[in-house]
Amino acid sequence: MSGAELQQDLRAAVRDLCKAFPDSYWRELDARREYPEAFVKALTEAGYLAALIPEEYGGSGLGVAEASIILEEINRSGANAGACHAQMYTMGTLLRHGSETQKRAFLPKIASGELRLQAFGVSEPTTGSDTTQLKTLAVRKGDRYVIRGQKVWISRAEHSDLLLLVVRTTPIEQVKKRTEGLSMLLVDMREAVGHGLTIRPIRTMMNHATTELFFDDLEVPVDTLIGEEGKGFRYLLDGLNAERILIAAECVGDGRWFVERASKYAKERVVFGRPIGQNQGVQFPIARAHVNVEAADLMRIRAAELFDRGENCGAEANMAKLLAADASWEAANVAVQTYGGFGFAEDYDIERKFRETRLYQVAPISTNLILAFMAEHVLGLPRSY
Ligand SMILES: Cc1cc2nc3c(=O)[nH]c(=O)nc-3n(C[C@H](O)[C@H](O)[C@H](O)COP(=O)(O)OP(=O)(O)OC[C@H]3O[C@@H](n4cnc5c(N)ncnc54)[C@H](O)[C@@H]3O)c2cc1C
Repeated sequence: MSGAELQQDLRAAVRDLCKAFPDSYWRELDARREYPEAFVKALTEAGYLAALIPEEYGGSGLGVAEASIILEEINRSGANAGACHAQMYTMGTLLRHGSETQKRAFLPKIASGELRLQAFGVSEPTTGSDTTQLKTLAVRKGDRYVIRGQKVWISRAEHSDLLLLVVRTTPIEQVKKRTEGLSMLLVDMREAVGHGLTIRPIRTMMNHATTELFFDDLEVPVDTLIGEEGKGFRYLLDGLNAERILIAAECVGDGRWFVERASKYAKERVVFGRPIGQNQGVQFPIARAHVNVEAADLMRIRAAELFDRGENCGAEANMAKLLAADASWEAANVAVQTYGGFGFAEDYDIERKFRETRLYQVAPISTNLILAFMAEHVLGLPRSY
């Protein structure tokens, strides 16, 4: 089977699985702010969340291009891959920098669904986008690290067994470069909660299961360290391109969903004796949103190809994320406008997806920070921060 055929089959199969989780499923969970447990279970059992795990560890050994198709199709169906995408974008860190013992201990269990790696702990309340300033400290004490600090916006922590946690192992005052002294730990939250780790949910404008984490002298074994101590910032950067591409694909999925819904509604809704979609004032914004979603998709495909060939794709991954997040947000606005008053009604799902896709202007990286990356690292302009 060719690569293109495999991707087509994968797309069709994910689309099929998503049909069992219609708009009403997501709408009801949204109203109750509940985690889509049944959906994540179905995806896990079908093996989709193990897409990036090599076959020798029980996964399907696919590339980021295929993983991104899975997330795109989830969002395109009207669902929200935010419930489970972290398993894909944290995977690279474990695969590239984890020891053989760690890989053998965790990957087969993650692939089978026995363990979930759905939480990624970077953000802190007083640090913002300036990751090198993060303050959560892990101090070595014999064969343990003792962790103290606080994280914020750590999504899915209540629904994950494992947490990929970024900490300082050397205080910033003691390092030559501020990017030094950060480390990555793979924390087993099943043992940590109640023994130094407290999770507190944060209610947000969409159903995202995000939380605050409080570390009060949580003790973890030193073998939770991924790779070398102090090299965590490099490992973090390593994983960011995959994250950008995967989020871009979700935005493309959202964008296509909005364009399809808006087009359908514009054909059916009759006002002044004709379908509203016959008016250029209604059809042109939908057409433009479509053009922008498709253009963003090309950049996402390009970035994924480069990534899977092991080539440098920093610029393309960032551009894909920026273009796709802008395109999905434009499409969301257009859909609300096309639906008129009904765009605001919960029963039509437009307002729910509108809230969901808005996130991607801010997280996992804000648009300004992508522009700053492009200006500095691609165009050679002076660093602005
Ligand atoms: C629902 C949700 C889920 C999340 N999930 C996770 C998660 O699972 N794990 C995790 O670690 N984090 C998570 N995050 C955090 C997310 O990654 C951050 O919110 C994001 O990186 C922005 O950081 P901040 O909120 O601290 O904003 P800040 O850094 O305080 O920035 C605020 C605003 O100022 C702008 N800004 C800041 N500095 C500059 C500058 N130098 N130039 C121009 N503009 C600037 C930003 O673009 C932004 O618009 C999540 C956030 C949300 C809302």
